[in-house]
Amino acid sequence: ALKCGIVGLPNVGKSTLFNCLSSAKAQSANFPFCTIEPNLGVITVPDERLTKLEELVKPQRVVPTTVEIVDIAGLVRGASKGEGLGNKFLGNIRETDAIIHVLRCFENENITHVDETINPVRDKETIDIELQLKDLETVESRITKVEKQARTGNDPEAKRMFRILSKYKEVLMEGKSARTVEVDPSDAAAVKSLELLTNKPILYVCNVDEPAVIKGNAHVEAVKEAIKDENSEMLMIAAATEADIAELDDFEERQMFLDDLGLKEAGVSKLIKSAYKLLQLETYFTAGVKEVRAWTYHKGSKAPQAAGVIHSDFEKGFIRAEVIKYNDFITLGSELACKEAGKMSIEGKEYVVTDGDIMHFRFNV
Ligand code: GDP
Repeated sequence: ALKCGIVGLPNVGKSTLFNCLSSAKAQSANFPFCTIEPNLGVITVPDERLTKLEELVKPQRVVPTTVEIVDIAGLVRGASKGEGLGNKFLGNIRETDAIIHVLRCFENENITHVDETINPVRDKETIDIELQLKDLETVESRITKVEKQARTGNDPEAKRMFRILSKYKEVLMEGKSARTVEVDPSDAAAVKSLELLTNKPILYVCNVDEPAVIKGNAHVEAVKEAIKDENSEMLMIAAATEADIAELDDFEERQMFLDDLGLKEAGVSKLIKSAYKLLQLETYFTAGVKEVRAWTYHKGSKAPQAAGVIHSDFEKGFIRAEVIKYNDFITLGSELACKEAGKMSIEGKEYVVTDGDIMHFRFNV
């Protein structure tokens, strides 16, 4: 499953948010470093198309797609040098597909801040710098490996890699994140292979107090300004309030609570939806009589990569994919009907999967 990592300095509200998001209970206390082990939660992504497919296919079971959320606590200044278990946390981030960066935009004298004052822009930079330093380390060690070959040999790939690495080195040295670089499509694969931490899609979550949840506050405005040139998105949430709402068992009670705040839906469900969309995730379906299932893939994936979401063997042994568009399936009612109407296409390795595709993969084992 795709994995989002929640990062942020201690006491900004990561575990509070994580608790709202998942049924798993992470420890949450007014104490920096309280969540030391990464906590993993699994979130179901709601999708009404699954219900429609279920009605038509009548499968034995329906499996919605999920996104894993991991609470990565303990990122502090100096993490890239291994302080406060820093390297371990950076390793946890490397394993994620996207980052949710929580910024503390609420004041509360009783809840300590590692740097004493509330300043989400400074906090963001503190974390950014650690990630950038780690990326710089990655880039420099790769440069050492390809430099000679790129300068003396005739290997175009080595030359390409060297050019890319040099560019990223320059950007990182300026204190900018890799995601600020515009990538030529022909370089995309090489860039991706670097697995830079600051190149991962990012969603900033401004954690505010209840009164600011609709209008925001000065801290939120400062964050907006700071990220305007970055390829990123931002969302406001009142994590502590959401946690209170999540405690309520009764749906109507929760709704009343939300109405009182002037909110249409719980911030967490907004977060799940935005995270899914903003992090450029899409859904394809498999629709057999045994199982109708939604799968998450990165927007722009080709058929073999998308198949790899189901199983790595599907990607390795990929032969072809049989594809039916969701609307055709709903209109015609079955795979057979689509086939007969010529609405099932046979696609190869270069096929770019689109949201809602109903896929059937053929592969060698
Ligand atoms: P973490 O270290 O980033 O995981 O932070 P926690 O989620 O443990 O939160 C630290 C403390 O801040 C806890 O006591 C939370 O109840 C409190 N807290 C979290 N979010 C908010 C918020 O939006 N407003 C207020 N006032 N307190 C919050």
